[in-house]
Amino acid sequence: MVKARFAPSPTGFLHIGGARTALFNYLYARAQKGVFVLRIEDTDRVRSKKEYEEEILSSMKWLGMDWDELYYQTDRFDLYKEYAEKLINEGKAYKDGEAVLLKVNSEEIKIYDIIRGEITFDTSNFILRDENNKPVLDKEGNTQLKDEVLIKSDGSPAYSFCCAIDDALMEITHVIRGEDHISNTPKQILIYQALGLKPPKYAHLPLIMGEDGSRLSKRFGAVAVSDYKLKGYLPDALDNYLMLLGWSPGNNQEIITIENAIKKFSIKKVNNSAAIFSMDKLNWVNSEYLKQKSVDQVIELLEERLKSKGFIDDDTDNDWLGKIVDLYKGRISTLNDFLEWTDFFFTDNYEVDQDAAQKHLVTKLKDVFSQLTDSFEGVETFSAENVEKTFKEKVTALQLKSSDLIHPLRVALTGKAVGPSLFHIAAILGQKRVVERLKKSLP
Ligand code: GLU
Repeated sequence: MVKARFAPSPTGFLHIGGARTALFNYLYARAQKGVFVLRIEDTDRVRSKKEYEEEILSSMKWLGMDWDELYYQTDRFDLYKEYAEKLINEGKAYKDGEAVLLKVNSEEIKIYDIIRGEITFDTSNFILRDENNKPVLDKEGNTQLKDEVLIKSDGSPAYSFCCAIDDALMEITHVIRGEDHISNTPKQILIYQALGLKPPKYAHLPLIMGEDGSRLSKRFGAVAVSDYKLKGYLPDALDNYLMLLGWSPGNNQEIITIENAIKKFSIKKVNNSAAIFSMDKLNWVNSEYLKQKSVDQVIELLEERLKSKGFIDDDTDNDWLGKIVDLYKGRISTLNDFLEWTDFFFTDNYEVDQDAAQKHLVTKLKDVFSQLTDSFEGVETFSAENVEKTFKEKVTALQLKSSDLIHPLRVALTGKAVGPSLFHIAAILGQKRVVERLKKSLP
């Protein structure tokens, strides 16, 4: 039976790279009807923080990755000590003060990586170095092999030691993790060999890079998953985007639910070249998920944000709100976009695009605006069709073109240079506010 694990260190928030690793483990475990383990690698007591641990757990839940087993390495310190003692007793490891080190001999270590194929390591390249990274030479002037630290001089167990013991005792069959861990793999194999345990299978996922080819940085999405939540990305959309960072369902398909991905996922199909993180692509995926939601679902998703902005309260007419959502949900990338695009519906203190105002709200339009205002005041049922009809009649009567007036009208009503159908916007704003704003725009 397949058993995969995600093993984050709570020394930072869960970010895109970590979430992608978690997701590939999750997809593989579920695809194989296996077990998905979450193991918190909190042995570094100085850098591990409760705040990070909580964020990791809540982000995992938000992304819908439910785990079957949960472990904390700090609960297992006695176990690591026990194994260190065992290796000392067998003469495979030795003490150096508080530290315990595994003797390393020159040998070749081969691993078969599911994504990369065979990788060979030569332990004679594991050279002992000083603080300045210079090789430490012996009396004859030769470099020396670096023994592997199992227990550090402060008495805490080292990452590779805990990792190898846990993967073995938890009966992890597949270790799927980032490419940055490849260099740790031979060290962990040495520990398995010393303990007489069988190593798992390995799959090292390709790096994720920014669009300029550099490592993923804060600018290119190496921010916490919880930040994406705050910005108004949807968890299923983020999952979908993360899947595409190294894997594809085939046939140029890009939008796929987690349930369907589980049916198709295979580690063998994961790319071995770097994946590029594209914010535009993520925005596109998120907009596709927003489009698929019903108006009511989007209202529910927006509710807290709209309330905290003071845009709606319990008395807000839901049908009216639904019309706004319907008009915008096909054009926004994130939930926060909605707030930016629609502020003018909810408040008279909306943001005005100053460039557009200067360009379009010109004094020579004063008379035209005043006539248009009169016509709008005369509309009986202020529907989008009637607003459009009135507008067009006025334009013709004034011997103008629609385009001469539509931009000034948009800026006057919304403060923005672009947006969806202005006649629908006007109808939702209502006759009173349309007339007020037109009168105010060119006093
Ligand atoms: N705790 C390690 C990390 O966060 C996990 C490494 C592994 O998956 O083996 O990078």
